[in-house]
Amino acid sequence: LTSGLESAWSKLRGVDVLTKENIAEPMRDIRRALLEADVSLPVVRRFVQAVSEQAVGVGLIRGVKPDQQLVKIVHDELVKLMGGEVSELVFAKTGPTVILLAGLQGVGKTTVCAKLAFYLKKLVLYIPEEIDVFPILREDPHGKSCMLVAGDVYRPAATDQLKILGEQVGVPVYAPGIDVKPAQIAKQGLEEAKKMKADVVIVDTAGRLQIDKTMMDELKEMKKVLNPTELLLVVDAMTGQEAAALVTTFNIEIGITGAILTKLDGDSRGGAALSVKEVSGKPIKLVGRGERMEDLEPFYPDRMGGRILGMGDVLTFVEKAQEVMRQEDAEDLQKKIMSAKFDFNDFLKQTRTVARMGSMSRVVGMIPGMGKVTPAQIREAEKSLKVMESMINAMTPEEREKPELLAESPARRKRVATESGKTEQQVAQLVAQLFQMRVRMKNLLGVMEGGSIPALSN
Ligand code: GDP
Ligand code: MG
Repeated sequence: LTSGLESAWSKLRGVDVLTKENIAEPMRDIRRALLEADVSLPVVRRFVQAVSEQAVGVGLIRGVKPDQQLVKIVHDELVKLMGGEVSELVFAKTGPTVILLAGLQGVGKTTVCAKLAFYLKKLVLYIPEEIDVFPILREDPHGKSCMLVAGDVYRPAATDQLKILGEQVGVPVYAPGIDVKPAQIAKQGLEEAKKMKADVVIVDTAGRLQIDKTMMDELKEMKKVLNPTELLLVVDAMTGQEAAALVTTFNIEIGITGAILTKLDGDSRGGAALSVKEVSGKPIKLVGRGERMEDLEPFYPDRMGGRILGMGDVLTFVEKAQEVMRQEDAEDLQKKIMSAKFDFNDFLKQTRTVARMGSMSRVVGMIPGMGKVTPAQIREAEKSLKVMESMINAMTPEEREKPELLAESPARRKRVATESGKTEQQVAQLVAQLFQMRVRMKNLLGVMEGGSIPALSN
C-alpha cells in the first residue's frame, strides 16, 4: 500500500493548484493502492470521492504546497475512515468488568486474553508536572487486577495454553475443566472473580474454522450469562476484507462492542484496519502486533493513517507539537527551521515538548521509521532523551547556537563527552542527529527540498 501511495504524491510536485485533471492520476494510484491492500470497492469509491472533493481547488496555503496538502487530506480522510478517535475500552461502573472474546479458530483469542490482562495491569507512563523532569514508566496504581476464564472446552490444549499464558503474565486462570459447559464455566468464573474482587474478567471461548450455528449459540448463551461490558471479536488482519465482513456478521448475530485486530505485524495488507469501522459500524479497539505479551496496543486511527501513508505520523506529530508549544515558540521555531538555524536549544525545547505531549508511546510511534513500540523501547527512548539532555547541558551557549562548531571540531566534541560522561561517539551521533532533524523538518514544512547533512570532521 505504502509504495503505491508514495508514487502518487511525486506526480504532483511543483503544481500550483490541485485540479480535477492533475489529481486524476494520483487518485487512480490511491484507488489502486487501496484495492491492492484489500479494501472493499465501495469503501474505496467513497474514499476517493471524498478526497477528490476536498482536494480540487486547493492551492498554496501558508507555505504548504498543494501536493503536501493532498497528503494531509488523504491522511485525514484515512483517519476518518478508521473511526477518527481512539475507541477506548469501556469499564463497568460497579462490579467486575467482563470482557468476552469471540472469533474464529487460530485468530489469537487465547493469546489476546493474556495480552489484555498484561495490558490492563501494565506499567503506565507517569508524566511529572515539572517541566524539567522526564516521564517515567511505573506500575499504574490504578492498574486493573484481572482474571482469565477458560471457556474453550473443546481442546484440552486450549485450557493448558491459557494457564501457561496466565502464569506468564501473573494473572489467575479459572479453568474448571473440559467437562463443564462453557456457559456454566462463564457463570462460575464470574462468581469466582467477584469473590476475588478482580477488576476485570476476561473470558476465552472456542473458535471454529468457519462461522457455524453451534458457535453462535454458545456465544449467545455466554453473553446472556455474563452480560459482558465488552464483547470483542478477534479478527486476523491477514484476512483483509474478510475481517470487515466477519465483524459485520458477528455484530448482527450476537451484537458486539468492537473488534481486536491481530497479526498486524505480519505482511497483512492493511485493508482490514481500513474497512472494519466503515463496513460494520463497530470500532477496532485494540491491535495485536506480535506474539509477545506486550504486543497489544490501542488502535490509533491517526497513527495507522500515517503508517499507511508511509511517513510515520509526521502530520499529527507536527500538529501535536504545535498545540503543546506556545504559539510564539512555534512561530519562532518555524522561522528557525526555514533559515536552517534550528539549534541545540531548540532541540532541547523540542524533546521536552515531545516528552510532555502525552503518552510517550504514542509520540515514539509517530516518529517516522519507528513503527512498533514496546514498553522496553519506550524506556529506551526515555533514557536516550536523558542522555541527550546531559550532553546538551555540557555544551557552551555558543555551541548550542552553532552546532557547526561541534561538527567541525573533534576537540569540542571530546570536551562535551568528558563533561557529560558520555562517549565521543555519542556526542557525534547527537550532532549528526541535529543536522538530520534540520533536513527532515525543512522537508516536512516544504520550505526547501533536499538539504545536506555535513560529514563530521575528525
Ligand atoms: P485462538 O485459536 O484464537 O485462541 O488463537 P491463539 O491465541 O491460540 O493464537 C494462534 C497463533 O497465532 C499462536 O501461535 C499465536 O502466537 C499467534 N498470534 C496471536 N496473535 C498474534 C499477533 O498479533 N501476531 C503474530 N505474529 N502472531 C500472533
Ligand atoms: Mg484459543
